[in-house]
Amino acid sequence: MKTDISRATKGLIIINTGKGKGKTTAALGLMLRAWGHGMNVVMLQFIKRASANCGEHRAAQKMGVELVAGGAGFTRSERSLDANKLLTGQLWKTAKEKVTSGDYDMVVLDELSYPLRYGWLTVEEVLDVLRNRPPAVHVVITGRDVPGELIEMADMVTEMGEVKHHLKKGIKAQPGIEF
Ligand code: ATP
Ligand code: MG
Repeated sequence: MKTDISRATKGLIIINTGKGKGKTTAALGLMLRAWGHGMNVVMLQFIKRASANCGEHRAAQKMGVELVAGGAGFTRSERSLDANKLLTGQLWKTAKEKVTSGDYDMVVLDELSYPLRYGWLTVEEVLDVLRNRPPAVHVVITGRDVPGELIEMADMVTEMGEVKHHLKKGIKAQPGIEF
């Protein structure tokens, strides 16, 4: 953590939620902005697989930014749910260490709402870690259907609302936009 920044910093809990597009990409934008200040940033992705090799994975590698895609992918098949459940436990352990270590200025927990919604992780465990973090650490959480207790605790909550989405017109996912 950069001491010159942390002295004046009030760590925020920031939530990007809602049905519209832009939750993860807005979190990546915050990471980019913080990184520009020389802040130490990390994103932990709870659903995406490392092998997805999305634009953000490639960019993080090029920038030397830590990004861990520790999920098993998005499908709702029984096998994928089991795999995501297992990986959530491991990634949550890493998340706890990163948030509480004091080594990071910003920790992004991407799609954290899914393990909470499926009951693989309790909201109490998450609240406990957030409450016990060093006071200057920003934590950004993304995903749909974030539990009320987390919304309550957050300092800033933005709901992305869908007005139009090109996928609904049958336009397929575009590199640089969707992945
Ligand atoms: P992004 O990662 O692009 O910022 P997101 O984090 O807001 O999107 P997720 O719920 O994580 O959205 O969904 C991941 C993918 O699903 C994104 O590529 C996004 O374009 C697509 N998506 C998001 N909202 C919609 C929607 N309303 N209809 C269809 N596809 C959507
Ligand atoms: Mg997302």
